[in-house]
Amino acid sequence: KGVQLIVELNKNFYTLHKFGGSSLADAKRFNEVKKILAGNQEVIVVSATKGTTTQLQNMLDAARDGKTWHTELSALESAHQTIINALLPQDQHAELLQVLRNDFATVADIYNTVAKIGAYSSEIQDFILGYGEQWSAQILTAYLNLTNKTLYLDASKVLYCYKKDGVVCIDWERSQAALIEYLKDKDFSQLVVTGFIASTLDGKRTTLGRNGSDFSGAIFARLFQAIKLIIWTDVDGIYTAHPAKVKSAFCIDNLSYQEALELAYFGASVLHPMTIAPVQEANIPLYIKNSYNPNAEGTLITNASTKSKHPIKGLTYVDEIALINIEGAGMAGVSGSAARI
Ligand code: ASP
Repeated sequence: KGVQLIVELNKNFYTLHKFGGSSLADAKRFNEVKKILAGNQEVIVVSATKGTTTQLQNMLDAARDGKTWHTELSALESAHQTIINALLPQDQHAELLQVLRNDFATVADIYNTVAKIGAYSSEIQDFILGYGEQWSAQILTAYLNLTNKTLYLDASKVLYCYKKDGVVCIDWERSQAALIEYLKDKDFSQLVVTGFIASTLDGKRTTLGRNGSDFSGAIFARLFQAIKLIIWTDVDGIYTAHPAKVKSAFCIDNLSYQEALELAYFGASVLHPMTIAPVQEANIPLYIKNSYNPNAEGTLITNASTKSKHPIKGLTYVDEIALINIEGAGMAGVSGSAARI
C-alpha cells in the first residue's frame, strides 16, 4: 500500500526547491524567490531569514548569562514586520502580524524563564531556534498565495526523527505515512515547508541541527519522490576550492553523489553532508544554484561520475581541527570503543 501511495504522489511530479537564509534576507529577496519559482507543482523548503537562528541562539545564551536580550528581540520582530509590510497588501497584514506578536511574546516568556533559572535544556533550545523557519515559511506562503494557491506546512507535523549515537535519523515510514495523511485532502500549486524543524518520536518539536535545512530539503525530496531538488544559495554552485581563498577557483558543473559527499563532509560549507544520502537513495538529481544569479548553470549532482578534463574535482579543508589517532591492542574486538571515544 505504501508503495502504491508513493506512486500516486509521484504522479504529481513535484520539483523541490530549498532556499537558504541568504535567499530570504529581506523583502527584495522574497520577491526574487517568487520570480525564480514556476508557480505550480512545487514544494519549497525554507530556512529562517538571514541571521535569525543565530540571533535566537545568542539571545538565549544572553538570557542564561543574565545579560540583556530585549532590544535584539524587538529588532528581530520589527525586521519580520518590515518584510510583511513590504510584501503583503495592507488588508492582509493583520493575521500574520498577530501570529508574530504571539510567537514573540512566547519567545520573550521563555527567555525570562531561562534568565531566572540561569540554564536551558536542549528541548528549550530546539523549541526556540525552530521559530525562525516558521516565520519565514508563513511569510513566504502568504506572499506566494497572492498569486498561486499556496499552503504552509510546519514540518514538525509530518517529519519524525530520533537520535542514535548523536546522529539524527529519520523515521521514514512514519514520516511518509504522516505526509500522505496530511496531503489526503489538500489541493495546492505550491507548498511551503519549514526547513530545520522536525518532531521527536513522542511528538515534541525538535530540529535537525544547525544548518540542517539542506537536509530537510533532501528529506522532503525523497518523501515526495521529487523529480529534482534545487538548493538555492548565494554562490554559483560548488567550487573547485574556496573562492575567497583561491582566486582561480571555478564552479564545478557536474559531480557524482559520492564526490559531492566527500567535498561536503570535508569542509565545502556550501552543502550540508547529510543532504546527499536521501537524494542518492531515491536517485533524485540535485542542483546547487545561486538565487542571486539564477541564470548561472550551477552544479548538478547525480549518480553519474562524468569525466572532466580536470583530474581532481575539488579541494577542501577544515579549519581549526585536530586529528587524533587512537590505537592500542586493548581496543581490538571491544565493541563500542568508537562511540565512547
Ligand atoms: N536556520 C537554521 C540555521 O541557521 C537551519 C538552516 O538554515 O539550515 O542553522
